[in-house]
Amino acid sequence: MLDPGPSSIPVPRDQTPHAVVIGSGFGGLAAAIRLGAKGYRVTVLEKLDQPGGRAYVHKQDGFSFDAGPTIVTAPYLFEELWKLCGKRMSDDVTLKPMSPFYRIRFDDGTFFDYSDDRDAVLDQIAKFCPSDVPAYDRFMAASHEIFKVGFEQLGDQPFSRFTDMLKIAPAMLKLESYRSVYGLVAKHFKDPKLRQVFSFHPLLIGGNPFMSSSVYCLITYLEKQWGVHSAMGGTGALVTGLAKLIAGQGNEIRYRQSVRRILVENGTARGVELADGELIKADIVVSNADSASTYRYLLPPETRKRWTDAKIEKSRYSMSLFVWYFGTKRRYEDVKHHTILLGPRYRELISDIFGRKVLADDFSLYLHRPTATDPSLAPQGCDTFYVLSPVPNLLGNIDWTTKAESYRASIAKMLGETVLPDLENQVVSSKITTPLDFQDRLSSFRGAAFGLEPVLWQSAWFRPHNQSEEVKNLFLVGAGTHPGAGLPGVLSSARVLDSLVPPADSLVTS
Ligand SMILES: Cc1cc2nc3c(=O)[nH]c(=O)nc-3n(C[C@H](O)[C@H](O)[C@H](O)COP(=O)(O)OP(=O)(O)OC[C@H]3O[C@@H](n4cnc5c(N)ncnc54)[C@H](O)[C@@H]3O)c2cc1C
Repeated sequence: MLDPGPSSIPVPRDQTPHAVVIGSGFGGLAAAIRLGAKGYRVTVLEKLDQPGGRAYVHKQDGFSFDAGPTIVTAPYLFEELWKLCGKRMSDDVTLKPMSPFYRIRFDDGTFFDYSDDRDAVLDQIAKFCPSDVPAYDRFMAASHEIFKVGFEQLGDQPFSRFTDMLKIAPAMLKLESYRSVYGLVAKHFKDPKLRQVFSFHPLLIGGNPFMSSSVYCLITYLEKQWGVHSAMGGTGALVTGLAKLIAGQGNEIRYRQSVRRILVENGTARGVELADGELIKADIVVSNADSASTYRYLLPPETRKRWTDAKIEKSRYSMSLFVWYFGTKRRYEDVKHHTILLGPRYRELISDIFGRKVLADDFSLYLHRPTATDPSLAPQGCDTFYVLSPVPNLLGNIDWTTKAESYRASIAKMLGETVLPDLENQVVSSKITTPLDFQDRLSSFRGAAFGLEPVLWQSAWFRPHNQSEEVKNLFLVGAGTHPGAGLPGVLSSARVLDSLVPPADSLVTS
């Protein structure tokens, strides 16, 4: 039997404490469900015309393009949300385990099929470097130890006080968190290609493998333990499922509602003002908008002591992404659901993106072919794709208004010469997203695709807290707050609210 969860509130609805959630990314949707389960009347305000944020779904020419997340890990974090509403996720969404998780293709055409099947992985390692085979078990054991601290003790705990950080410090030190992901991987594996295979994961959450703390090696364990999944119908099916849970709780998502500012009285959040001037009162406000933009643009400077404009300006932001969504009139049956195409350079390319912030002529790409799993996402006989290229955020001096088409064409050429022959003649639907879209459409500071960069000195207590350190009754969820980007990260940020937000019935309605 599933827990029924709190489904009815013993006070009239208009007297029930009101929570406003700004933004309907996965963090905002999960927060709304958790607050609904705590007895709040919840209004989600979303500036776009659909829910999902980075997981928006573009429908075009009969193709269905998931804009962002495609790799679903730690599905139990989603299942929990359905349970809170007394439901089962499987009634609304079917998740399909991927095997292999990814095909990682090197520039010379060799490839590594990465999965949770130990024997298969050992065979793949032996293909590249037999003497590295014993390194796998050692590395996975290290990843497990890191997971126990980094995810289980750190991931869904609020880091509101510096002493919370001090408590965790000895364990972090023991786990060599001062090393980078690449540094820890290189300690175990000697082969340069295998070092890439086991160290690229921070890129999935906007981190530089040479700068992100080795604590992010926990992703390897997370994937192995719970698998890599895809939602049938696309990631959009998860978004729709969560929106349905919110409606089922009697709560509301209002679209095309851009929040202009958070209303603050005597240091306490009292509601929000929309771009059209409408004022919405609330007992608590949760912002799922980018944390830097929340502080910089939605809260006046005089309400902020820690996240001043100067601190926001000088913080480090993740890379951005160039994404080309395209549909082809033929199917490419040899192409896996998830392919990573590594270019000729690794460390140098990453330093062009994160350090020098220049647009390189070469690239490493992630190619998504959801029709490998669910052909219904394209017209019959066709394939739906997106390809993403990590690029500098908007601190780089790249004019995307003029550069986008030539960059797309060079990516198409590379794909045409490698895994998608004759590509340019097969494309029947096309759409591009550049760092400008992350800034202008999704309100991300510096056009960062993943919010604040995940480096040790911007993690846990050092990140904008889930319970705002600036204003009472303001909470933050999503990629730019603790613990960080990626679906497990943003779902965990909403989970942290459980221990921070008081139950609705303990509040006096304003
Ligand atoms: C292309 C791409 C691929 C990715 N792939 C993966 C993957 O495979 N697996 C994975 O785990 N992660 C992946 N990620 C990361 C993951 O998608 C994100 O970290 C996560 O979805 C961010 O969720 P969020 O809760 O921070 O909200 P967002 O998705 O950032 O949503 C925030 C919402 O707030 C709204 N908003 C902002 N300002 C306002 C305002 N003033 N008023 C009203 N609304 C506002 C925005 O419109 C938006 O809808 C990917 C990201 C991208 C960009």
